[in-house]
Amino acid sequence: MAEPIRTCIGCRRKDSRDRLVRLVWDAAVGGVVIDRLRVLPGRGASVHADGACLEKALQRRALGRALRVATPSADQVRQAWQDAGLS
Ligand SMILES: [Zn+2]
Repeated sequence: MAEPIRTCIGCRRKDSRDRLVRLVWDAAVGGVVIDRLRVLPGRGASVHADGACLEKALQRRALGRALRVATPSADQVRQAWQDAGLS
């Protein structure tokens, strides 16, 4: 069976899902959360586990489009990214 492929919303390259981090909008939190275990419900966005890809996604405002929410606060997303142990 082929491994699952996702497109990084930062660099827009396709890659194995295992190399991408899933981000979801958490309405209760009012922000983006990092779904490392890929268990959270709702629409997700995939980004390489690489801060450079996250920054590209933020600059392109791709996250809000992918999650279909108003553009999330870049600072909030960066904080969630760091809290998840990503850099
Ligand atoms: Zn990427």
